Amino acid sequence: MNFHVMTLFPEMIEQGLSNSITGRAKDKGYISFNAINIRDYSADYKHHKVDDYTYGGGAGMLMQAQPIYDCFQAINEEIKKNSDSAPRVIYVTPQGRVFNQSMAQELAREENLIFLCGHYEGVDERVLEEIVTDYISIGDYVLTGGELPAMVMIDAISRLVPGVLNNDESAMTESFNNNLLEYPQYSRPEEWMGKKVPAILLSGDHKKVDEWRLEQSIIRTKERRPDLYEKWLAENPPKPEKPKRKRRKKSAAAETTDNADINSQTEAGGIAAEACESENNEEKK
Ligand code: SAH
Repeated sequence: MNFHVMTLFPEMIEQGLSNSITGRAKDKGYISFNAINIRDYSADYKHHKVDDYTYGGGAGMLMQAQPIYDCFQAINEEIKKNSDSAPRVIYVTPQGRVFNQSMAQELAREENLIFLCGHYEGVDERVLEEIVTDYISIGDYVLTGGELPAMVMIDAISRLVPGVLNNDESAMTESFNNNLLEYPQYSRPEEWMGKKVPAILLSGDHKKVDEWRLEQSIIRTKERRPDLYEKWLAENPPKPEKPKRKRRKKSAAAETTDNADINSQTEAGGIAAEACESENNEEKK
């Protein structure tokens, strides 16, 4: 996966991504990042000017079309040498679709990605129309430039590229996979400030541990991100309730939770059924 970043501050990108996991992934060749200074493509050879006032008036400067277009052409020519498919060109902007994990997963399948980082008031609309394939925001707030958003996206995409994380599985069980947040986790010591690690995690019973983790993920998602929980519920509809005499006994996993709402069943369907009951069995559309 090759990331090409058009920016006025290439050192921000290089310094920001050269440490820790992304830095190691780059050194090992799983990913590459190429930060290109748009200023190098300014037609103004004397001052390397890249911005100007906006037509119609208004505060602030706007990045001009020509240096960005020429910078893009140079990157594209390089990409063409090794790839037949046209790269996606992402303009990071508060006016785009809001970035999320499934977008990261989709983008992680690309061979090359080009990012355009705006600055000041933004970018001349005409060059955006000419080169951009995706408009993506990292949230509903306005930043001073596109470098941090591009780094946020590159970081999230990189860790989904095979080989980048030491353990590929960890990306599969993390938050947002299947619309659930990750379960709580604990490390040594077994007791800290009077708080004990839940006994089930020390039991060595992998099946019970998995059940407990799923249960905790569901509780946590319902509490902290009801919007995500609704999506999960729609994909995991509650199983019809079993006749009373066939109901399972309280499991050890369920006993560890102090949530009275969902302590009688451990399977996802059962948990969903109880959650739904408390929501007056709203009909699925
Ligand atoms: N005048 C613009 C904001 C310009 S902010 C407007 O009102 O829409 C300057 C640059 O920072 C933008 O061109 C964009 O590249 C970047 N930026 C700011 N906030 C962002 C966000 N939430 N997500 C992605 N990029 C953002």
